[in-house]
Amino acid sequence: MSLFPRPLSQATVALRTLAPASKAPWIAFLPHIQHRTLGIPPQYLLDDYTPRYNLLTSIEAAQKRSQAYAHLSNCNLCPRRCGVNRYKTTGVCLIGAETAKVNVIAPHRGEEPCIQGFHGSGSVFFSGCNLRCVFCQNHDIAHQRNGFDLTPEELAEWYLKLQDTGNVHNINLVTPEHVVPQVALSILAARDMGLRIPIVYNTSSFDSLESLDLLDGLVDIYLPDFKVWNTSTSKRLLKAEDYAETARESIKAMHAQVGDLSFTSDGIAQRGVLLRHLVMPGLEGEGREIMRWLAGNVSRDLYVHIMEQYHPDAHVGKKRRVTTRRRKIVEGRGGDAEEEKVEEEVRYAEINRAVRDEELGSVRDAAVEAGLWRFCGVNEKGMFHL
Ligand code: SF4
Repeated sequence: MSLFPRPLSQATVALRTLAPASKAPWIAFLPHIQHRTLGIPPQYLLDDYTPRYNLLTSIEAAQKRSQAYAHLSNCNLCPRRCGVNRYKTTGVCLIGAETAKVNVIAPHRGEEPCIQGFHGSGSVFFSGCNLRCVFCQNHDIAHQRNGFDLTPEELAEWYLKLQDTGNVHNINLVTPEHVVPQVALSILAARDMGLRIPIVYNTSSFDSLESLDLLDGLVDIYLPDFKVWNTSTSKRLLKAEDYAETARESIKAMHAQVGDLSFTSDGIAQRGVLLRHLVMPGLEGEGREIMRWLAGNVSRDLYVHIMEQYHPDAHVGKKRRVTTRRRKIVEGRGGDAEEEKVEEEVRYAEINRAVRDEELGSVRDAAVEAGLWRFCGVNEKGMFHL
């Protein structure tokens, strides 16, 4: 019987190159594949990894807990800076203090290969958001706050289930900016219960420095999205004028904590920053600015995922009735009257289309010209860049 009854697809080969030889003994028979596992640049290859939360002393952990409670009683956790006591009321994000609202908890296979690995990323999708992106692709979760309420201890129990039953590679906290204290408390509770996999903080980058300070020592991988560059664009499309300024500050702070993305020899990311940018229709100029800024101000060795999957969603492309009225002279009646015109208008028409290849290409070219070189994507040899 042949060792391989049918040829491996390119994608299968790419995935299997991520398998450690100890878990896949057949890999030893494939010298070309084994050679590919050496594709991780040595400076980003870790022998082993212990999550940062397991290195905190008990005094440091206690300090983090009291920091978290203090934030909830005077919430300036995100740039909205509501200053409310969340035990008594809510701010812009509409989420209180005792619990976090969660929509879905599950192993997720829709992330980058180095995050989802073989068994998936243990994703926790939080409901609510501190941005109001008009094109949000998770708007039922982010804007409508569907979901169930979990205390930090209940969240911690779910992390353990994901680790022990789901066998996932990490705990991936998706849209957690407005529930950082609850998240910090849940990580500390989970560490006492035996959690031992890295924490991924999957954020829009609309985080305050105080919030990132609370997360320092608890998060292993930051997965920030840098969405748009211009103030007028963020005001119109994200409903946050100070978005780009905040994102610049917070991405620098994240990188100062954990550095460039590093992997163990199985190709799974363990620590560092993985920066995402979703190229938007007609906004490729802003994408190019973002790439230049990242290379010049964060790191040329930053691991970057330039994403192409934009599609119109949420409010984009929806029809809206617009009524215009004007005065007009009515001949022979000695006066004037009001004329009413009702028209249908497409909302946010400028981003109501898919992204073109040339727009994507121009952002990629700008990234390379700026000196960035670590990109998430399939390379010319059929494996993923590490
Ligand atoms: S996390 Fe919520 S309550 Fe706190 S500042 Fe941001 S929007 Fe306001």
